[in-house]
Amino acid sequence: MDDVLIVGAGPAGAVAATILARAGVRVRLLDRAAFPRDKLCGDTVNPGTLARLRRLGLAAPIDDRGLRVDGMRVTGPRGVAIDGRYPDGVYGRALIRRDLDWALLQQAIAAGARFEPSTAVRRPIVESAHGSTSVGGVVVSVNGRECVLRARATVAADGRRSTLAFALRLARHPARPRRWAVGAYYENAGGLSSLGEMHIRRGRYIGVAPIPGGLANVCLVKPSKAGDDAFGDPASLLAAELARDPLLRDRFAGARLAHPPVVLGPLAVEVGGAQMSGLLLAGDAAGFIDPMTGDGLRFAVRGAELAAEAALDSLAHGWNGVHDRLAKARRREFARKWRFNRALRSLVASPRGVDVANIGARVVPGLVRRIIAAAGDCGTVSDLGAGG
Ligand SMILES: Cc1cc2nc3c(=O)[nH]c(=O)nc-3n(C[C@H](O)[C@H](O)[C@H](O)COP(=O)(O)OP(=O)(O)OC[C@H]3O[C@@H](n4cnc5c(N)ncnc54)[C@H](O)[C@@H]3O)c2cc1C
Repeated sequence: MDDVLIVGAGPAGAVAATILARAGVRVRLLDRAAFPRDKLCGDTVNPGTLARLRRLGLAAPIDDRGLRVDGMRVTGPRGVAIDGRYPDGVYGRALIRRDLDWALLQQAIAAGARFEPSTAVRRPIVESAHGSTSVGGVVVSVNGRECVLRARATVAADGRRSTLAFALRLARHPARPRRWAVGAYYENAGGLSSLGEMHIRRGRYIGVAPIPGGLANVCLVKPSKAGDDAFGDPASLLAAELARDPLLRDRFAGARLAHPPVVLGPLAVEVGGAQMSGLLLAGDAAGFIDPMTGDGLRFAVRGAELAAEAALDSLAHGWNGVHDRLAKARRREFARKWRFNRALRSLVASPRGVDVANIGARVVPGLVRRIIAAAGDCGTVSDLGAGG
């Protein structure tokens, strides 16, 4: 039996595995994919996330291979455009997730975690005793054959559509917001700089990021109603959005898709009361709204650290109080940012909100720069003293 089984070898799973392996725990990390693998993302690691990775000693390959991101350009529907450089010279990085996730996973393996690729988790093993239920491991499928893996603690780090959290009815897609994302890489896009870009439009937004190799990452996020087949032809959808956008059409007029686009949705996942002995949630599996603020990786990395600490706590002292302590630690760490993100998303979700924000940005651009610094988790950099 393993001490800890981690399902999902994305950033949350890899970071949790590294911490646990370094602590001397027998940890097995499973993923249904073979690595390196692709993952739809804006591909930016904000300064706060980078600081956390530096603190963990995991940032060297990201600093080596990633492009420097000095801040964000935010534009509104009526031509307002504000460049907000991160304060005090701090920066983030842009690196495709295929490379980022592989770099983190390799460090987990080097720390002693046992990695099993192409291993899909089908369901949790739920055990009942004395009127309470707990998770005792998972059932996996390898080459079409099912087998049982048991562990003293299981960490679900299996992303937004967490097989474990959905199977246990800990997670659900809320009725609202109902947004989908389409993302693609373009060659030959014009006007890229060392700034990430967020182009906020009525009812939708488009993120653009420069990534290594001269490519541009483009992610469009917009609502989708039942029966809406706009996402059925994502290449045409993206082409149309870029062509009608006054700030982007010239820059993408000569651009070509480097790979077919990827569609993801519905994005929002709500997780409530995830208290089950034997199981901890980390990363997107612990809840996801949408990626406008570009900080999902910080929640994944820091959430993984907290989940790893909770797993160590459970191994040393049993499960009593573990979830309460973890929930408290997550609130302490994330509550302000959750509120900030919710407020920002509500503002841009309404056409009126976008208009008000547009006027506000014209009148007080300094406020937008402060918002950009907050979205980049720049406060974490000074707290940790782990700048560039
Ligand atoms: C359009 C978009 C743009 C984004 N842009 C940014 C950005 O620029 N910056 C940022 O910080 N965040 C961004 N995010 C958020 C970020 O991508 C996520 O927060 C991050 O990937 C979460 O990491 P994770 O490890 O929790 O999950 P994931 O990275 O999704 O990893 C989960 C892993 O679990 C595996 N898995 C799933 N199910 C199973 C199963 N049943 N059995 C075994 N393995 C399984 C998967 O193969 C995967 O490897 C964006 C998200 C979206 C949708």
